[in-house]
Amino acid sequence: MSSRVTILGAGVAGLCVATELVARGLRPRILDPMGAPGRHGCSWWAGGMLAPFCEGESAEPEVTRLGLTAADWWQAAGAQVHRRGSLVVTLARDRRELDRFARRTGGHVRLDGAGLAGVEPGLADRFTTALHFPEEAHVDPRAALAALVAGLDRAGVVIETEAAPTHHPDAPSDADAGAARPSGASQDATPRCDYATGEAAGRVAGAPMGGAGVEIAVGRAVAEERSPDRLGSETRSRLVTGGAPLPGAKGGQADTGRERAADAGMGDPTRIALPTDPGRAGDPHAGHTAPGELTVDCRGLASCPLLPGLRGVRGEMAVLRAPGVTLDRPVRLLHPRHPLYIVPRGDGLYMLGATQIESAARGPATLRSVVELLSAAYALDPAFGEAEVLEIGADARPAFPDNLPRVLRQGDTIHVNGLFRHGFLLAPAMARRAADMILGTSTEGRPCRSC
Ligand SMILES: Cc1cc2nc3c(=O)[nH]c(=O)nc-3n(C[C@H](O)[C@H](O)[C@H](O)COP(=O)(O)OP(=O)(O)OC[C@H]3O[C@@H](n4cnc5c(N)ncnc54)[C@H](O)[C@@H]3O)c2cc1C
Repeated sequence: MSSRVTILGAGVAGLCVATELVARGLRPRILDPMGAPGRHGCSWWAGGMLAPFCEGESAEPEVTRLGLTAADWWQAAGAQVHRRGSLVVTLARDRRELDRFARRTGGHVRLDGAGLAGVEPGLADRFTTALHFPEEAHVDPRAALAALVAGLDRAGVVIETEAAPTHHPDAPSDADAGAARPSGASQDATPRCDYATGEAAGRVAGAPMGGAGVEIAVGRAVAEERSPDRLGSETRSRLVTGGAPLPGAKGGQADTGRERAADAGMGDPTRIALPTDPGRAGDPHAGHTAPGELTVDCRGLASCPLLPGLRGVRGEMAVLRAPGVTLDRPVRLLHPRHPLYIVPRGDGLYMLGATQIESAARGPATLRSVVELLSAAYALDPAFGEAEVLEIGADARPAFPDNLPRVLRQGDTIHVNGLFRHGFLLAPAMARRAADMILGTSTEGRPCRSC
């Protein structure tokens, strides 16, 4: 067991690992050049859905299994968890999509119009059937991250901002961010969970965001993004998760993570080989840790040079203020080309998400993506037509070829990465696994497949 632990990265992965270690009696150090969670990190833009059953529609069964305890973990960590379930609906003409979704998932009951009116009255005049996942939950991700930061602060663990980021060249300089200060030392470093109101950041597309066109070469994935045949986000989602063939895919079979990994010459994606000296190449913190100290690398996409196969999957989202809309729980609208989910954030605020594009580009959302998201919201509830658009954001999710997260150990470095579209859902399970490894109950790095 090592009691000296330095965590690199204060996104959802790093903060969950830190929280889990504190709960087990350790006091880790957290380093993030950008300070507390904010627009620079992927975690800022998440929907916050804790939806293990719905995600099972396109993800491996491990995602459902590992995600089942997420809501309890977040609640124990001090986050406000909304346990109101979630709904999946579709327009009448796309009814077969709902049947397909039902076949591919568990944990749901089918509602008729009357049942839907009882659960979510605001949808009952437009939808006559729905799938209800009563055990699912959601958090406001920014508030949840702030709760972790506050809990860590109470335990005497602050976020230190010592070094410049390696692969976020769009991020402000240390001078902008306030170098070498603990998270509580400056207003800039204080976690914000406020939503843009016009004066605050992120009102419209084009405002500076987490990324500004950073493109990390991930081989075939980048080529897909450049394909002239740009597809709707559900179709794009299938490209990632195995529901439909890629253009040119072999024999019309789904493009699974294993196939993608094999195409990339990586062999079995569950056995990703780390570089022989993982703690050095591209690691700005090389030399910051003392001999015998463990480093937990939770830097998301910034760890690409150390983790072969790690790629970015771009997601775009919007936050609306829509007082005329009355939704109490996340709602997914299935659509062959423009699927959408809406997550209520209270006070008339709703997060709309999200595109899923094979690209590590972190620049502003495109017009096409925004039009698709907003149109789908309007189709779900015309009252969105009067909504104020408060934010449009974009970032790239870190993902391995099979879209499963990893806790990998190499020497004195443990990598927690590849959370893909399940950061809030799976970071608790990955944090437990990392803590087990650090405390000596597990010594071998494995993908979550074998957790
Ligand atoms: C639009 C969208 C919607 C999503 N919705 C959901 C959802 O509903 N539910 C869900 O579970 N997940 C969702 N996700 C996925 C989730 O957001 C990601 O899986 C998660 O944020 C990844 O977290 P991370 O901590 O690995 O990376 P990040 O949040 O990017 O954190 C990495 C951190 O590392 C820091 N860093 C960079 N370089 C260095 C360095 N040299 N030294 C130290 N630190 C460094 C960065 O500053 C950053 O703070 C969504 C994602 C997107 C984009």
